[in-house]
Amino acid sequence: MTDPHDPLDPPLRRVLVADDEPHIGRIIQLKLEQGPYDVTLVSDGQEALDYLAGDAPVDVILLDIMMPFLSGLEVLAEARKLPHRAATPVIILTAKGQESDRRQALELGATDFFTKPFSPKKLLARVDALFE
Ligand SMILES: [Mg+2]
Repeated sequence: MTDPHDPLDPPLRRVLVADDEPHIGRIIQLKLEQGPYDVTLVSDGQEALDYLAGDAPVDVILLDIMMPFLSGLEVLAEARKLPHRAATPVIILTAKGQESDRRQALELGATDFFTKPFSPKKLLARVDALFE
């Protein structure tokens, strides 16, 4: 049986996390790295898009919406135009009650949402679920 939290089985998956609040990004990183994930943390939308435009392998993208330079929704829209990121799962981190953000994110091709403030444990479970 596969244990999703055994770091050697399955192999590490690469996660790009973009959030402009350093402590939130760090909490996400620490939690996901308890599972089979290797996290790259960036702190604004332009940095996220620059990373995605490159060739680094990315298995999941987590995007905060409110970030400097480019919002998470703008990063999502641009990422979907990149052939090598067109099908990469994207989880959008939304603030509570932002239904319009959710609708727009779905139209842009988001895979899932996660509402802030969130339980890191539930976020890890949500990311795990993408690979079940
Ligand atoms: Mg933010």
